[in-house]
Amino acid sequence: MAGTQSILSDAKENFEKTAALLKDEVDGDLLLKIRLPKERIEMRLTPQLSDRKIHVFPAFVVRHSDALGPAKGGIRMTPEVSLDDVNGLAMEMTWKCALIGVPFGGGKSGIVADPYKLNQHDKETLVRSFARNAYRHIGPQVYVPAPDMGTDEADMGYIKDTISHSMGQATTQGCYVTGKPVILGGIPGRREATGHGVVICICQALKMLGMEIEGATAIVQGFGNVGEVAARALHELGARVMGVSDLFGAVYDPEGLDIPALSGHANRSGSVKGFSDGREMDGQELLEMPCDVLIPAAAGGQITAANASRIAAKVVAEGANSPTTPQADEILADRDVLVIPDILCNAGGVFVSYLEYAQETQQEQMAVARVEGRLRDRMIERFDQVWSLARERKGRMRDAAMILSVKTVCSALTARGYLP
Ligand code: NAD
Repeated sequence: MAGTQSILSDAKENFEKTAALLKDEVDGDLLLKIRLPKERIEMRLTPQLSDRKIHVFPAFVVRHSDALGPAKGGIRMTPEVSLDDVNGLAMEMTWKCALIGVPFGGGKSGIVADPYKLNQHDKETLVRSFARNAYRHIGPQVYVPAPDMGTDEADMGYIKDTISHSMGQATTQGCYVTGKPVILGGIPGRREATGHGVVICICQALKMLGMEIEGATAIVQGFGNVGEVAARALHELGARVMGVSDLFGAVYDPEGLDIPALSGHANRSGSVKGFSDGREMDGQELLEMPCDVLIPAAAGGQITAANASRIAAKVVAEGANSPTTPQADEILADRDVLVIPDILCNAGGVFVSYLEYAQETQQEQMAVARVEGRLRDRMIERFDQVWSLARERKGRMRDAAMILSVKTVCSALTARGYLP
């Protein structure tokens, strides 16, 4: 995070800008309902960890809006996450769900802990402690969590198990959490959905710019759920992934990295650092290397007013949430860098979460080919809508995406009518 900018202030700024663009089209009263979150919950988790001592971890749940349906959004576990960050991310989830066309509102959770410093047993204990304490705020009609930075598929399985036990049942009736293991009612393809959605958007963007994916060059920041899957898919499509970074280091090879080999190395060692191919590089320097596509797929606030003028990519595909500050956005637009906004670019995860929610509610099982086909169709459809509106209004894709989202949420609020 840079300077005084934060995920929340960026989210508010993006919203206010959209509100101004829509001042003649949307009732200002309705905007009051979505300017602030519906609910901000702050908790203290106090699990006993394997050292037999009690540890204290702050945790948060925010429901920004439920105009379109139950709040949906992942659980972030990082040492820095704050209630305000979770608030900003929940707000972004409201727009993302509306844009990708799923019947969910926006929510998010945060657990203040360093997942890289917890052993596997302690991480499971902490996740179970979160599920037990946040139990009242989680439910198929209330808030349905999913993985985000620092949490994964296994953690979602522990959440389902903890909630089932709290109910005295072998399983839950309906969907309490998405992104869980397939054997517990998860859906095949959910883990890959966000990264694949990012790559579908990149292919569409390159097509619009008259470029080919094969031979295109890419740089990826973050090698977790989103970054690793996106890098692998780009590699398979014949793109040249020249650089990858994570929290611990970065590797760069202008000839292109062997991504499957890099994944193997990162799985064994816990980082891309020390990979034998390519040279090591500072992660911030990597962001500024010339390439066709830059994919920030890690933390927020990475492209700021301080480095935006040096970003040397033609396309920025926002795999991460809020990686570009509003000031950086302006600088990139002035320099004709095409930014595929986060609420579109990384919406594949929540779209497939919706398929998981629907299949669990109906006690069905969906095949991976069907999941991937539906993801592809929806991503292309929404990309094209956003692209066309941006062309029509001669504006940025982010503004077009926000206009479509905010109008959709306002239509739902109007359809619901007023309740005191
Ligand atoms: P993850 O925990 O699986 O991986 C995060 C990766 O980013 C790790 O490789 C970590 O080392 C790296 N990282 C963290 N800070 C970094 C930094 N400053 N510089 C370089 N690398 C850094 O997380 P994820 O699920 O892949 O999420 C990544 C981003 O994508 C987040 O912004 C998240 O909100 C967003 N996102 C995730 C999903 C999802 O389905 N998982 C969906 C939509 C958006």
